[in-house]
Amino acid sequence: MNSSNPIQVREIGWINVVFLSLSPLLAAFGLWYWIKTASFNWQTIVLTLIFTTIIQVSITAGYHRLFSHRCYQAAWPVRLFFLIFGAAAFEGSALGWSLDHRQHHNHIDDEIKDPYAITKGFFWAHMGWLLFKPLDGRRDESKAGDLLEDPLVVWQNKYWLVSGILAGYILPAMIAWSWHDFFGGLFIAGFLRAVINHHSTFLINSLSHCFGKQTYSDKHSARDNLLTAILTFGEGYHNYHHEFSSDYRNGPRFFDWDPTKWIIKSLSFIGLTSHLKTIREEIIVRKRWQMTEKTLRQKLQKRNPAIIDNEWKALDQLKEKIESAFKHLTSLKNQYQDIKKAGQTILAQEVKSLKQEIAKAREQFFDLLKAWHDSQLRVFTLIAA
Ligand SMILES: [Zn+2]
Ligand SMILES: [Zn+2]
Repeated sequence: MNSSNPIQVREIGWINVVFLSLSPLLAAFGLWYWIKTASFNWQTIVLTLIFTTIIQVSITAGYHRLFSHRCYQAAWPVRLFFLIFGAAAFEGSALGWSLDHRQHHNHIDDEIKDPYAITKGFFWAHMGWLLFKPLDGRRDESKAGDLLEDPLVVWQNKYWLVSGILAGYILPAMIAWSWHDFFGGLFIAGFLRAVINHHSTFLINSLSHCFGKQTYSDKHSARDNLLTAILTFGEGYHNYHHEFSSDYRNGPRFFDWDPTKWIIKSLSFIGLTSHLKTIREEIIVRKRWQMTEKTLRQKLQKRNPAIIDNEWKALDQLKEKIESAFKHLTSLKNQYQDIKKAGQTILAQEVKSLKQEIAKAREQFFDLLKAWHDSQLRVFTLIAA
């Protein structure tokens, strides 16, 4: 995109170049020396796993879903925790991270405006973009209003590096010192762990933008990828996330591997998080079905349409019915939301009958979708025959 723009020379960010090159070397040296000196012990391994987890979750639940997208609200101890341990991922401050990320969402795949556009290649999206200073030398602070209102975010923006060094290197080293493994705490739970956190996050910007399924939309490069979902505690459902970025879940179905959503939800039971935003089920299901429908249409265009003519007509009729059932269900749900928002005094009997109508409309919508999927299966059988 924007390929007509002239090539713009960017200044190399030497601090990042040195840090991103040196930390894997230090991690590799530390691991080699740790094993060579027979220092291996399970306490340090467990400590590394714990630090990897809390720091990665501080990025996914904190930097990403809370600060960048405002998918939910969190009490100050939770925000402080995410800010302190998020800094230990050495991915910058929450403010800077969020501004870059908002720009990525607003200008996805744009070679100039998307800071880590996959259209500039896998390495660029993964970490190449970090080796240069931003084009105009600064970020778009106009998108930071809500973040600057949070004194904790402003504080962390000033002191994130000190906080990161203390929480990410010194703290694990001190803990491991208690079982006489200061070196392992620093190099394994510190340097090696930071490299794991780095590349897990970076894979969302690279791998999840080129490998995986476009379950909800093919209008952008984001893809749903189980491998990155596992590595990043649920962030790999990236196609869903780019379609519905206000949802606190990245994997919306109960069985989707998204521990971050389980953590945010669990914290809501004890009042530490609230106002969890979700997208309505029928909107998600319709979007998924629309993608399936589009893919089927593209496949069938390559075949002889006469073979499946009748089936295709039936699918088209069902499509119309699904769309009108969706509209009906949406208007009923909006009606119900309006009543709740306005706090209208309405007879209990009327609310009850509206709820019954919603249940009926929902059932009809899902029955039609099922009928569509059955027809789709018949089409596949005919094609295969
Ligand atoms: Zn993305
Ligand atoms: Zn995002």
